[in-house]
Amino acid sequence: MSDKEMQVSEADLKGVNLKETQTKAQESDMKLMFKCDDCSKTYDWPLCCGESMELEGDNLVCTVEGCGKSIPVPECDGHKCKPFIAKS
Ligand SMILES: [Zn+2]
Ligand SMILES: [Zn+2]
Repeated sequence: MSDKEMQVSEADLKGVNLKETQTKAQESDMKLMFKCDDCSKTYDWPLCCGESMELEGDNLVCTVEGCGKSIPVPECDGHKCKPFIAKS
């Protein structure tokens, strides 16, 4: 892991923390994304209703009232990608 990349904990990705994490990342010209540990393929953090979706276990959920959309965490070759902050 280089200094241009950092792993984030699940707690960093909930509610207010999620917004804080994204703001912090943006301030350093980085962004929150999903990344495959094996092949380094990256996926943009999913948005719904114009908001970043929140991580809840193996799913990403939309927290906008009346929506409640839920999608699985991106997978690469059958294994789950991990949340990362990296240079955009
Ligand atoms: Zn992969
Ligand atoms: Zn939504």
